[in-house]
Formats: sequence, C-alpha cells, structure tokens
Amino acid sequence: MMARLVRSRLASVLALLAIAAAVLSAQRGGTTRMLDIYWVDVEGGAATLIVSPSGESLLVDTGWRKDDRDARRIHEVATRVAGLRKIDYLITTHFHADHVGGVGALSTLIPIDRFLDHGDTVENRPGPAADEWAIYQDASKGKRSQPKLGDKIPLEGLDITVVAVNGDLIPGAINGGGPNAPELCSDPALKKPDNGENGRSVGFLLVYGTFEFLDLGDLTWNKEIDMVCPVNRLGKVDLLQVNHHGMDLSGAPQFVNSVGARVAIMNNGPRKGGIGSYLDIVKRAPGLEDLWQLHLSLVAERERNTAEQFIANLDEEAACTGHYLKASIAPDGRYTITNTRNNVSRAYASR
Ligand SMILES: [Zn+2]
Repeated sequence: MMARLVRSRLASVLALLAIAAAVLSAQRGGTTRMLDIYWVDVEGGAATLIVSPSGESLLVDTGWRKDDRDARRIHEVATRVAGLRKIDYLITTHFHADHVGGVGALSTLIPIDRFLDHGDTVENRPGPAADEWAIYQDASKGKRSQPKLGDKIPLEGLDITVVAVNGDLIPGAINGGGPNAPELCSDPALKKPDNGENGRSVGFLLVYGTFEFLDLGDLTWNKEIDMVCPVNRLGKVDLLQVNHHGMDLSGAPQFVNSVGARVAIMNNGPRKGGIGSYLDIVKRAPGLEDLWQLHLSLVAERERNTAEQFIANLDEEAACTGHYLKASIAPDGRYTITNTRNNVSRAYASR
C-alpha cells in the first residue's frame, strides 16, 4: 500500500517535471525568442552586446578600464539581464582606451571564447594606450583572429558580414546597395586622412530577416564617404549605431544620409561625443524617425539633443548610474527600443 502510494506520488512528480521541461523547451525553441541588442553605458566609450535568438552572443567593445566600472556594467547586463554564462565572440573594433579598456577585468568576470580584431595596434607608443594593448594581448592569448572583408561572424540565425577592417572597406555593394545619387556624392568636403586606429575599426552589417543593424566602430569621415560614394556599398539599414560616439572626426552627411537609418543610437558620454553639428546631421537625415542617445550631451545646446525621453542618462559622469538602451527585434522585423531609465519604449517596423 505504502509502496504503491510512493510510486504514484513519484509518477505525478515525474509528470509535472515533464510538463515543465516541455514548456521550457517550447520557450527556448519557439519562434518567440528575440534578437536583443544592448548599449551598455560606458560614458562615451563603446560596449554593444548582441544576443541572438538562439542565445549566442557577440560583444562589440568593452568600454574604459576606469576602476573596472565598465567591465562590471557589461557583466551585469550580460549575466543578470541577458542571462549569459559566456561571451561567444568579442569584437574589439580598434585599440583605443574607450573600446578595449574593460577587456582585462571583463575576461576575469565571464569567459570570452573568441577575440576578433583588425590586427596589432598601430598606435603602440609608451603610455596608457600601450598598457591597454598589453592587457588585451594577455586576455586574448591563443584566442585572437582577424576577420577578412566579407567574412561572416557565425551567430546562428543571424547574417553578420564584416564590411570594414584595418582600413579596408568591402569592395562591392551588399544589402541592395549600388551606385549612389550623383548629387549626394559630388565634391564632398574631406578631412585629414586617418591611418590610425579609428580608421582601422572593424565594422559589420547584421541582417536578421528584413532587419539590418550597422556598427562601424569609430570609422572616420573620409572612409565613411568612401563607403557610400560613388557606390553605396551598404544599402539602407534600419538601425545605425552612430559612428564614433558623435565626435565630429566622423559623421559625414553623405554617409549618414545614404544609409538612411530609421533609428539611430548615439553612444555618447556627457562630455565625449554628442557634438552639436553631428546631432544636427543625424536628426536631419532622410528617413530617420528617432535618435536615441546614451547620454544627454552637455557639450551641445539642450535643444540640439534628442527629446529627453529618448536619452538613457542625464547626469554628469561622476553621478551617473549607467542606464542602458535595449533593442528587441522579432523574427517578423518588428522591433522596439527601450530606455531603461524611464521605461519609455517605442515600436518600429523594418522595411
Ligand atoms: Zn571611441
């Protein structure tokens, strides 16, 4: 009698467990999983975390070294928010302190499987930059590789193509690109040529169904123009991470206007990037619905910033608690951007 009762209890417990497992696997394997992109606030540096619907991850840059603040912020979002146990791929777009600084601390907080970069730094002068470079080499030992133009970063379900690396740009048009309107490209104003780290940024185009996301790191002005004139090599995109935090070494209007983003995200700090003239160029771009900013730019007039509801952080760096922005993209191309400071969320549809 007793044995039978135990057996029947055991049977019902097992049945419940089976149901729970089925529900969990339906949630994981179903079509409801989203592509998520997080812009961690690293005060004018870069740290963009991409989590594929299958749960694989690509982190693009690791912010500043600064007392491990940025590594901790990235770790918090990666583990507590996105539920990751490791980073599958880290792209370090280039070896400036605001992009590579967090790598040492972050690699002690969470495993990083692969390290992708443009090749050895070209700015290895003694000083703080050389320290960052040494820390990167140490953290990435035996796990580094250099993608070539056109290479794919193999996150399941996503099509991620390398379009810029080490100063070279993808040679042909992709994503429906082609010859640009001659009036857009006639006699563009150029800036000083850039053979340094910024101009060597690793850049990629991510396509998920009808949705496109473009991140070219800190690619600078003349190369931006090369990317779209006379041929727009990248076509149109839904979501643009504004090049170079809104510093005016980048932000050529020919580029911003040609990629025709519906939504732009500027990863500026309170006093780094967020230049007024650059904000104007992005806001005026044809087809743009909204500009979102990681910070209120205190170096630009208030009215040149985007509307306050689209700004993740309003304070000076010392008082900043580091709210992040998040994009969630559904398989049908609908997506939302959310400001985690005020929970303002806006829905968009990809073309
Ligand atoms: Zn930068």
